[in-house]
Amino acid sequence: MLRLVSLTKTYKTGDRALSEVSFEVPAGQVVGLIGPSGAGKSTLIRCVNRLVEPTGGQIFLGDTEITGLARGELRVLRRRIGMIFQEYALVERLTVMENVLSGRLGYVPFWRSFMRRFPEADVATAFALLERVGLSDHADKRADALSGGQRQRVGIARALEQNPELLLVDEPTASLDPKTSRQIMRLIKEICEERNLAAIINIHDVVLAQGFTDRIIGLRAGRVVFDGAPSRLDDSV
Ligand code: ADP
Ligand code: ADP
Repeated sequence: MLRLVSLTKTYKTGDRALSEVSFEVPAGQVVGLIGPSGAGKSTLIRCVNRLVEPTGGQIFLGDTEITGLARGELRVLRRRIGMIFQEYALVERLTVMENVLSGRLGYVPFWRSFMRRFPEADVATAFALLERVGLSDHADKRADALSGGQRQRVGIARALEQNPELLLVDEPTASLDPKTSRQIMRLIKEICEERNLAAIINIHDVVLAQGFTDRIIGLRAGRVVFDGAPSRLDDSV
């Protein structure tokens, strides 16, 4: 499904953020990416959607070589990859429903006037997703009227609206309290199971990673230092 082959990134500053990182993530698997600050977690996630340009190795999503795509092909690629962010990245003045529908466009529209009318089928999909994340009663509320946990649920529904093949999740619970963090991680895990969806979750909190992922990959100084079942995690990471 997702395959990294000797992925390497050296920034122009000379910082080597990733060194020969290789692993495969099959459909349905939720991977927790852990490691200390500066280990290369964000760089890895950003290489997969080509927000950061790898300097070596290859990345494949299904049959597509991500590292071989021209700039003009990236929009199509990014529609296949759902992104979930730490600070949710919602448009605060738009409604919950409008935010979810913006996932269909593959970008977040700046002004309401840019929101085109969506086909009934897209609206129905968005409503079903809001039901799944427990927010169907809030569809017409503005995003800025929601709690942090509710906002992240909108972020999850928006990522799913484009029917992605892969979820990239960057510190989804960093702004949430412990109980809400567990609820959000459980929701992501359950949804990936239901949809046979692969996910890579960049997560600081090792206990959360152990509780709600299928596999943990530990990075340190740009190298994989652990790759295995959450229950086998030891002090090497
Ligand atoms: P993590 O997400 O695990 O904290 P990062 O991927 O952000 O790690 O960073 C990995 C390394 O790459 C660090 O040494 C960091 O300083 C460096 N780095 C990250 N982004 C850049 C950049 N845009 N330019 C130069 N160096 C960078
Ligand atoms: P993280 O929360 O993932 O550890 P940081 O706070 O280290 O991220 O970095 C925030 C931003 O600064 C990111 O966009 C990252 O790419 C960039 N960055 C990190 N380290 C460097 C660096 N040494 N030089 C330039 N940019 C950097």
